[in-house]
Amino acid sequence: MKFEELGLSQPLLKAIEDKGYTEPSEVQKKSIPLLLDGKDVLAQSQTGTGKTAAFGLPLLSKLETYNGKDIKGLILCPTRELAIQVSQELKDYGKYMPNIKVATSFGGQPINVQIKDIRRGANIIVATPGRLLDHINRKTIKLKSCDYLVLDEADEMLNMGFIDDIKEVLTHIDSKSQMTFFSATMPKAILDLSESFLKKPQMVKLSQKS
Ligand code: AMP
Repeated sequence: MKFEELGLSQPLLKAIEDKGYTEPSEVQKKSIPLLLDGKDVLAQSQTGTGKTAAFGLPLLSKLETYNGKDIKGLILCPTRELAIQVSQELKDYGKYMPNIKVATSFGGQPINVQIKDIRRGANIIVATPGRLLDHINRKTIKLKSCDYLVLDEADEMLNMGFIDDIKEVLTHIDSKSQMTFFSATMPKAILDLSESFLKKPQMVKLSQKS
């Protein structure tokens, strides 16, 4: 299968070509069509499988014609390192989409730097849960227009004790928004969380060899 067959827009295909990817990985083949179709997805996928592109490319594709300055997509990550990495990857994929602005927010960096970044008109936020709540409380991040949420490394976020923070973030997002959880493992806590928040989730599992 080729990336062209997944229904992604031309600017994304060009950026993927620049990256040197020749074909979509298994998690990309299985998740991208579902996410482009507006489905909620629960995907079991580890680091190194291409999961960032699997949830990132459909979000960027949905924002192809968006020119506003509201936050439309939110990616929650357990650590600052992952948030920075995901953010950079989204910027790389969106490099031919001048309307796309990605902002990154995590603890340990002065909040004013992040506020400035958000006020440039960010339409995608990649954040760790604690700092995101800080922004929400300061009203420097408003999620009322956010219609695409990703929990990246969801099991890791629960292991790190972020469950209450995540539940609180989710109360600020319209329940009709598209939501997807990517998790390396599927403990009961993740299944419970998906039952509470995902709408008729499509399950994506990878074959053993990948
Ligand atoms: P991830 O699982 O998102 O951490 O991705 C692992 C690495 O695989 C990243 O460095 C990506 O740039 C790379 N990658 C993602 N998708 C593909 C693909 N279809 N072909 C080759 N490399 C890829």
